[in-house]
Amino acid sequence: MMLGSDVSDLSTDSRTAAAMGLSLVVPCYNEAPGLAALHDKLVHLARTLKARYGLACEVVYIDDGSRDDTLKIAQTLSPDEIDVQVISLSRNFGKEAALMAGLDHCKKGAVLFMDGDGQHPPEFVEKLVHHWIVDGYDVVFTAKAHRDNESFLLRTAVGGFYALINWGARTKIPEDAGDFRLLSPRAAAALRQLPERNRFFKGLATWIGFRQLRVDYEPQARAHGVSSFNPKALIGLSIEGLTSFSVAPLRLASLFGLLFAGAAFLFGLMILWETMIDGKSVPGYPSIIVGVMTIGGVQLIMIGVLGEYIGKILSELKGRPVYFIAEHSVKPSTPDAAAT
Ligand code: UDP
Ligand code: MG
Repeated sequence: MMLGSDVSDLSTDSRTAAAMGLSLVVPCYNEAPGLAALHDKLVHLARTLKARYGLACEVVYIDDGSRDDTLKIAQTLSPDEIDVQVISLSRNFGKEAALMAGLDHCKKGAVLFMDGDGQHPPEFVEKLVHHWIVDGYDVVFTAKAHRDNESFLLRTAVGGFYALINWGARTKIPEDAGDFRLLSPRAAAALRQLPERNRFFKGLATWIGFRQLRVDYEPQARAHGVSSFNPKALIGLSIEGLTSFSVAPLRLASLFGLLFAGAAFLFGLMILWETMIDGKSVPGYPSIIVGVMTIGGVQLIMIGVLGEYIGKILSELKGRPVYFIAEHSVKPSTPDAAAT
């Protein structure tokens, strides 16, 4: 039985791959106010890409159970020069699930993920496409050029997160890389083959390999509304990423265990010495309590870490679908508009 996977039938030549077109996957959660403006920009982008590279584009909007008019507005967007698909999920499944729904349903070869809030500038897409078609990269991902507008606490936490997730990893997840990225047809095909339900796109897109390129960009301010990733959601995503991508926390547990066992051994030797050689009786109560509490605390934390992994095994084992689609519409681009 073959255990690897071969996607080499998808052309390695990016100019041939370009003939398969490009799908823009846009997850939207309560993005109604800015959606029409974003669509106009994407139509303009599609026109430019068509003229410059002969690239046919489609946009796939995924309404992730929005509570505002996102779906209604998305369904009225006109397919000028760009095919439009609107997928509405049955409830809010979260961004990673929305991205997966988009990836599963896009019809062109290459795939580009971008946020629906205007923070990922459409003008920048052309540059990513250039790196793919002209320079032949398979994965062109973007990273924030700087984090000056973020607090010291957040930057430290982010630094710690990447240090932990990349600890001993063969493929390092680049720090600061966002979800704004372009995948060539074979890279997208590879990503589709990964079977796990707990998705962490940044990690998976790195893990698949191929020729990867990092491009820095200046993130835009949100056009409207607020980010749905508050500190609590960010911590959730970090735990998700860590446990589905690395066993560093488990290793940390073993390391702690070793450290404490070593310290206990030395402490034991010291007590033996004091009783046998110095003949002192050892007053022990406070040190015993401190010792017991430390070991108890560390053990509880590590049981929690184990629990995270067991929970992950459970959810993979249940094998539930990652999302349900409630409505799906496909509008091919209008030929008249395409001719003009
Ligand atoms: N998003 C989504 N489902 C969610 C939360 C967010 O599809 O449950 C989308 C959202 O509409 C946006 C993108 O994911 O297009 C990024 O979300 P947001 O702007 O809130 O996060 P940030 O830019 O702060 O990382
Ligand atoms: Mg955003």
